[in-house]
Amino acid sequence: FPAVGNICCVGAGYVGGPTAAVIAFQNPGIQVSVVDLDEARIRKWNSRHLPVHEPGLIDIVRVARDGTKATEITLSNDDNEKVVLPSREPNLFFSTNVSECVAAADVVLVSVNTPTKSSGIGAGAATNLAALESAVTSVAQAAKPGTVVVEKSTVPCGTARTIREILTLHRPGVPFEILSNPEFLAEGTAIKDLLYPDRILIGSSQTPTGLAAAAALKKVYATWVKPSKIVTVNLWSSELAKLVANAMLAQRISSINTISAICDQTGADIDEVSKAIGLDQRLGSKFLKAGLGFGGSCFKKDILSLVYLARSLHLPEVGDYWMSVLSINEFQRDRFVNKVVSKLNGALVGKKIAILGYTFKQDTNDTRESPAIEVIKTLLAERPAEIAIFDPGCSPTEVRQEINRHVCSSNATPLKPQGPVEAYSNSYDACFDSSAVLILTPWDQFRYPALAQKDSAFRKSDDQSVENPQAFLKPVLSEMDIITLSEYQRAKSTSHVMTANSDPLSRLFNQVECPPGCIH
Ligand code: NAD
Repeated sequence: FPAVGNICCVGAGYVGGPTAAVIAFQNPGIQVSVVDLDEARIRKWNSRHLPVHEPGLIDIVRVARDGTKATEITLSNDDNEKVVLPSREPNLFFSTNVSECVAAADVVLVSVNTPTKSSGIGAGAATNLAALESAVTSVAQAAKPGTVVVEKSTVPCGTARTIREILTLHRPGVPFEILSNPEFLAEGTAIKDLLYPDRILIGSSQTPTGLAAAAALKKVYATWVKPSKIVTVNLWSSELAKLVANAMLAQRISSINTISAICDQTGADIDEVSKAIGLDQRLGSKFLKAGLGFGGSCFKKDILSLVYLARSLHLPEVGDYWMSVLSINEFQRDRFVNKVVSKLNGALVGKKIAILGYTFKQDTNDTRESPAIEVIKTLLAERPAEIAIFDPGCSPTEVRQEINRHVCSSNATPLKPQGPVEAYSNSYDACFDSSAVLILTPWDQFRYPALAQKDSAFRKSDDQSVENPQAFLKPVLSEMDIITLSEYQRAKSTSHVMTANSDPLSRLFNQVECPPGCIH
């Protein structure tokens, strides 16, 4: 394979956009285009307001998309030496012209959505490959012979065979190579994960051309990733490894969440248990934080895909094992909502409930499969006076659209003015006069009052800023926290909040210092 000079990424979403941007940033000599059918999304990628919120993304995109002028910088060495950073031509382009960009590419990364099927055979478990099939069909029609087609999307084990069939159907006899190169980035830390990956996985067929294609892709990554971190395996191992990685991460969360339920009824402290077991090097400390459970577009659908695969292979016990990871996730979320209702005397009628955090995790604007959605649905059945939502990553309009999409029943909208749900642009207004505040996403500004102050999250307006946010949100908070606020205005100096850990509700209500008249 000749050196790669042009890469096209099909799918400008949470994975395609950031991945292509980092590849372009690290390879100024390679032309990188990102294409999508969604015109609005491409327009945003070409603007200053990117469709994906990720720390550091805008800087990477600006350099690669807009180019840079030569810049003089002073090195912090003994001589304060001055050096000139050379100028850089743009090499990252966003477009809706799929066929033109694919036709120019040596390598096509297919990074389209692969959700769970919602109807037909395998509904609710199998992967919906419609977008992938349509993207590969476009590639088949436009790509030049010899193009390397790379599965970047997370796909069921065996999908490379389907891709081969589509390519052969549309271009019989034309040589194409298929690689699997799953993405392991996590939303919220995508740029860090892409710049400093734990590993890059490349799966290829074990033929001379397959291995040569893998070597060509390896060179693209090798400009910034150590060769020892670039792992080459066979196609099926690569496809399966991605599903298993997500299943194992989710399994740790469900495992620790089952233990939090035991802690609730014993004298054990879940954070102490997590710390104690995480110090064991065989286990490690990551993904051992108990909480509301996992959300996001990947864990659930990838476990379902693994379960479907196991059951299709007549391995029902294996399917059941992984299915239990999902059942525990629902159990934990229900446990949380039940506690909230029971702490509010078993009734939410007439009460305002504030929800801080709507995205599925901090530092992202992604709300797909957010636990908040299910929590809101369950709370609505209790007919509260208001459910007030604030999230620093989404505008009130975006939250309202999401509520409309997910929570509307067929005959009634839960949104104000007909219903009780309202989205706010700051946390103060959301929390004002509420009976309880549920922190569902651990954004830093909910954890650290100093940040909250800086970000004016707890400011109603300049002339009505909260006098003492420390008294309001005193110690470190995390998900599954609840604080009472009814009498907040009358008792600003009282500490309403207590140390909150993974499963703090019981402790919180036992220890909170309540101002007179505070409902809890
Ligand atoms: P996304 O929905 O944000 O983006 C997919 C994009 O593909 C959309 O913009 C859509 O318009 C576009 N698309 C669909 N069909 C197309 C076609 N035929 N031609 C051109 N564009 C088309 O999805 P995402 O979160 O970026 O995920 C993409 C894949 O990466 C999925 O398989 C997912 O499982 C996997 N993945 C996601 C993450 C994550 O954190 N989001 C992490 C690792 C892997």
